[in-house]
Amino acid sequence: MTFIDVPHFLACPECQGVHFVISSRAACRFRGFETDIGIMCETCSRVFPFVDDIFVMWSDELRELVASPDAMCVNVKSANLRVYDEVARDHQGHVKQSTPHGHTDLLRAYRNLVTSLYRSNVGPKSVLADIGCATAEEIDCIPADWQAVAIDISMSNLRSVVSRRAIKIFGDAERLPLKAGSVSAIVCFAAIHHFPHLHQFFRGCKRVLTTRGGLLVAMEPHSRGLPRGPLAAFVFFLRKPLYRWLARLGFGNHFHTDAEIQRLNDIAEVQRSKGGFTKESLTALLHSCGLKIVKCWLGPDFYNQKTWVLPSLKHLIITSLSLRNPFSLLNSPSISVLAAPADD
Ligand SMILES: [Zn+2]
Repeated sequence: MTFIDVPHFLACPECQGVHFVISSRAACRFRGFETDIGIMCETCSRVFPFVDDIFVMWSDELRELVASPDAMCVNVKSANLRVYDEVARDHQGHVKQSTPHGHTDLLRAYRNLVTSLYRSNVGPKSVLADIGCATAEEIDCIPADWQAVAIDISMSNLRSVVSRRAIKIFGDAERLPLKAGSVSAIVCFAAIHHFPHLHQFFRGCKRVLTTRGGLLVAMEPHSRGLPRGPLAAFVFFLRKPLYRWLARLGFGNHFHTDAEIQRLNDIAEVQRSKGGFTKESLTALLHSCGLKIVKCWLGPDFYNQKTWVLPSLKHLIITSLSLRNPFSLLNSPSISVLAAPADD
C-alpha cells in the first residue's frame, strides 16, 4: 500500500472533520484522477483520492463537475477546470503571461510581503497556504522551516508545482480543506478574480487563519484600470482576434488560442468580467467576512514609492480611451490587499 502521511492541518472540505483513515475506497477512475488509494473522512465517510502526490480534497461540487463536465462551461468552476487543462501544455509561458507586471516584480513583491507578514507573528513550522497557486514558483521564497501548501483547482497546475517542499492539494477555494486556526499565512496571487463566491472564500480564510495570521491578496484587476465606455470596450474586444493570431504564430497568449478558450476565460475570470475591484469594494467585502485591512495599495509597488506608473501598451490604449490618465497610479490595472483576522 502507498504510504500517505496525512498533514496535521488537513480537514474535510464538507464536514470539516479532521480525522482521516487511509482508504482503498478512494479508488478513482475519473480522467486525470486515476488512483487506487486515498483518505477517508472518519466523520462523514467521504473519500478523497491521492494522485501523483496530490491530495484530491474536492468539495461535493468539484467532484460532481469532474464526474460530469459541464459541456458549455457556463459554471465558473467548470470554465476554470477547462481553461487550465488547455494551458497545461506550456505552463512557463502561461505563468509569465499571467503576471501583469512581469515575473521578476511578482517574485520580489511576494518575498517582501511574505517576509513582512511573518516577521512579527510567526514561529517555525508555521503553515503558509498559496491558494490558486498555479505552478507556485514563488513558494520556495518562504523560510525553510515553514510548511508550504499549494492549493489549486487544476491538477495540471499542481503537477507542474516545482517545489518539493510544498504539500499539494486539489481543492475548492470556497471550501478550504484546512483545519480551523491552522494556517499562519494565506497568499493569493492573481487568483480571487477567478472565484465566483468571494464571501465564502474570505469567510473560509478567517476560519483557517491563526489569530495573528495574515492574508495577502495581490495583483487583482482594479476597476479603474479596466475599459470604461463603449469605445474602450470595443477596442478591448478587438484584441481578441489579434491575440488569436499571435497565439497561432506561437507568441504565447495561452488564454487566446481560439474563440472558445477566450469565451471560457471570460467566464473563468468572473470578477474581472464583472468589473474588477476598488479599494472600497474590497474593504467592504473583507470587513463583512471578519477580516480587517492592514494595507491596500494600487500597482505592483507595496512601498508606494512612485505616484505614477509606466503603462503597458494595452493599459495605455484602454485607459486613454476610457478618458483616464494611464500614467496615474490611481488608474493602475492592479490592486492588492494585506489583511488580518478582525478581533471578534
Ligand atoms: Zn467529512
